[in-house]
Amino acid sequence: MAMELDAFATAALEELRAAGLLRSLRTVGNPQGPLITVDGRELLNFSSNDYLGLANDPLLREAAVRAVERYGVGAGASRLVCGNMAPYGELEDRLPAFKGKEAAVVFGSGYAANVGTICALVGKGDTVILDKLNHASIVDGARQSGATVRVYPHRDMDKLEKLLKQSGPCVPHGQSSTISRAGRAAHPSRTLVVTETVFSMDGDHAPLREIVELKDRYGAWLMIDEAHATGLYGSRRRGLAEELGVEDQIDVTLGTLSKALGCVGGFVCGSRALVDLLINRARSLIYSTALPPAIVAAASAAVQFVMSDAGQARRELLLQRVKELHQGVVNLGYRSVPTGAIMPMVVGDEVKAMALSRRLLDAGVFVPAIRYPTVARGAARLRLTVTAAHTAERVQLLIGKLSGAGQ
Ligand SMILES: *Cc1c(COP(=O)(O)O)cnc(C)c1O
Repeated sequence: MAMELDAFATAALEELRAAGLLRSLRTVGNPQGPLITVDGRELLNFSSNDYLGLANDPLLREAAVRAVERYGVGAGASRLVCGNMAPYGELEDRLPAFKGKEAAVVFGSGYAANVGTICALVGKGDTVILDKLNHASIVDGARQSGATVRVYPHRDMDKLEKLLKQSGPCVPHGQSSTISRAGRAAHPSRTLVVTETVFSMDGDHAPLREIVELKDRYGAWLMIDEAHATGLYGSRRRGLAEELGVEDQIDVTLGTLSKALGCVGGFVCGSRALVDLLINRARSLIYSTALPPAIVAAASAAVQFVMSDAGQARRELLLQRVKELHQGVVNLGYRSVPTGAIMPMVVGDEVKAMALSRRLLDAGVFVPAIRYPTVARGAARLRLTVTAAHTAERVQLLIGKLSGAGQ
């Protein structure tokens, strides 16, 4: 006999609670910023991806309000039906200018952009190769595509090369041994490598130069997810590919409007042909209502800001805070913490990480514990993030609280 749904759910929740893995929602009562009101209490906020402090910036607020007055709130339908309101045109002109690409297409979220894009580019008979620590939206896209999914240990280039050797459509010396294998589609099989550039839970970087060299050698395509690098890295703040000088060798560049750009949405930049294919094939774009025009207009204002001298100054301010916090965290004894806006303090045990997060909360600081399945079992951590909206004083205040909370 089928278990009653509520009994099933209660038992599953109990299992999660016992393992220190239960999650729940908290209510935030104010805009994103250095202080956050959580369930009615004001706390120092070191948990936000609003790295440049744009989510509540007057420039973005005013752009959104103007768009509401002109276009209302809801977009009414998918972009391909009647939801593609005028602000999209401006944003999709600005994004390629920002990223130095030919064209761009905006999705409802970064999650939707990853899933829709991967599924539009590869399918049964093809291969997707992923870094082990890639974001869930990349993993979900790869699985949903029907392609064979291969995974290399985090940043392990020897293993990536082995996987490329096994699956590449253009193996060296022009052999095409994989094309006619039974069950393959009629097209020559494709291999797509997907990696984050700045890893969301570890804050470290993909070895992009090495990946580019390998994907060129084996004739694979490369898609990068710059969710945590857009607005922060490179002299024009385009991302890590700019910083490492490999932009021209990237086939598909994904970014989000939801982190440093302070809004919501995802986007893909690349050639005109790539973008037109996505508009025709990406199901998460075609079968989902367009973003509200106010968000699209605010995102345009954010991109314009990031491209300006003020954007450069804001990034420098962030880097100053990063330096201060990094010094403090290293002094507390946490090792190999990357020098970026994401600074994981790895605790290990899930229950211990939760307890530390709770002690900080009691001390007035909000730093969430990140646990399985977001990270591996036994690799629970506090994910500290710092933004340009913090002052030097607040960073020192945090360091004092971290020191007081112990391990
Ligand atoms: C946050 C994130 C996404 C998803 O973006 P949303 O806009 O939040 O849906 C995708 N990839 C990475 C690496 C992310 O960190």
